[in-house]
Amino acid sequence: MNLPIYFDNAATTRCDPRVVEEMLPYFTEKYGNPGSRNHAFGWESEDAVDLARERIAKLIGATPKEIVFTSGATESNNLAIKGAATMYQKNPAGSEKRGHIISAIHEHKAVLDPVKRLQKEGFDVTWLEPGEDGIITAKMIEDALREDTILVTIMWANNEIGTINEIPQIGKLCHANNIVLHTDATQWVGKMPTNVVTDEIDLLSFSGHKMYGPKGVGALYVRRRKPRIRLVAQAEGGGQERGFRSGTLNVTGIVGLGKAAELCAQEMDADGARLIQWRKRLEDELTSSLEVTQVNGHAEKRLPHLTNISFGFVEGEGLMMAVKDIACSSGSACTSASLEPSYVLKALGVGDELAHSSLRISMGRFTTEDQVDFAIGKIKEAVLKLREMSPLFDMHKEGIDISQIEWAAH
Ligand code: PMP
Repeated sequence: MNLPIYFDNAATTRCDPRVVEEMLPYFTEKYGNPGSRNHAFGWESEDAVDLARERIAKLIGATPKEIVFTSGATESNNLAIKGAATMYQKNPAGSEKRGHIISAIHEHKAVLDPVKRLQKEGFDVTWLEPGEDGIITAKMIEDALREDTILVTIMWANNEIGTINEIPQIGKLCHANNIVLHTDATQWVGKMPTNVVTDEIDLLSFSGHKMYGPKGVGALYVRRRKPRIRLVAQAEGGGQERGFRSGTLNVTGIVGLGKAAELCAQEMDADGARLIQWRKRLEDELTSSLEVTQVNGHAEKRLPHLTNISFGFVEGEGLMMAVKDIACSSGSACTSASLEPSYVLKALGVGDELAHSSLRISMGRFTTEDQVDFAIGKIKEAVLKLREMSPLFDMHKEGIDISQIEWAAH
């Protein structure tokens, strides 16, 4: 089978071979439990975990003790959101006014669902809506703040459109008002410079497999000073990870995440500089050569490697079929099994038809320039071909007002 070319790095990245190499001995030779304090096998694993913790802390400007290992961003988000809300609640479970939380409607499901659960359990939630640029600003948070606000959870960069929220400004605002800030930084960490101290973040989630590390491992940064953040543990047991997350550590995964963090720190500037050029080339070439084509979300405030483009007058499923040589996504991977238009694009005001005919194209460390040019060519060809079959496109070219017809089509 001829595999398509990979343009879905926002869904997951290839594990860097240098990461795999460093992990291998921890399967068969260095297999001790870091919790075994009585012998060399345990000490060896503990040393490896300590090194990983240092490397990860360095990548985000934290101290090693502030890193809590988890199984990935989903677990980190759940621990941060449920753990902080229940720790800082104003009234105990069972009462109605437990506290106010601020989030946004176009967060990842791994934030939406824990927040919705808290809402059912008596917390009040303000769901912010972005403008058509997709961005959540500090001003929007400021306007939503209340006396009883206990938690703000806003992602750093969006996984479907790549837009960047005003996290450092939101951090400043939250600290000035004694409110805990959690950010889902899964698409950000390892790609963009991060400093939890100067960016004033309290809780920050991320996953290994989005930054050239392995799947099934991630971390939550939990601030220890100014202020010291406390959380109610969600997994109780052996008391590992300072009691925040019990369970034997995934040493191989953690070693991989540590190496991935070290490589990202060394290479993110060069990777980012290269990818931003190619992203702009993709966007410029497609929007200039194909009419009724738009890049979704803010034009500048976005990740270097990710773009989301809508093509008018093509049918969504037809488009995915026509670009099958390119492995990309028609929304987020987590929702692409359903035929619902992306809720993220809808949040920006993109119509259902256009949302269906959108592609999320995400590049990474292993993408080459030839692949980018190949993708541009393939997408152009696919869109032009599909439009040849579209009577609506003919009418559009003839200047006929089709707004009513388009509306009637769905
Ligand atoms: N948050 C964001 C922004 C993501 O992109 C993802 C991965 N799609 C997650 C959370 C969940 O990560 P994981 O599946 O590794 O738990």
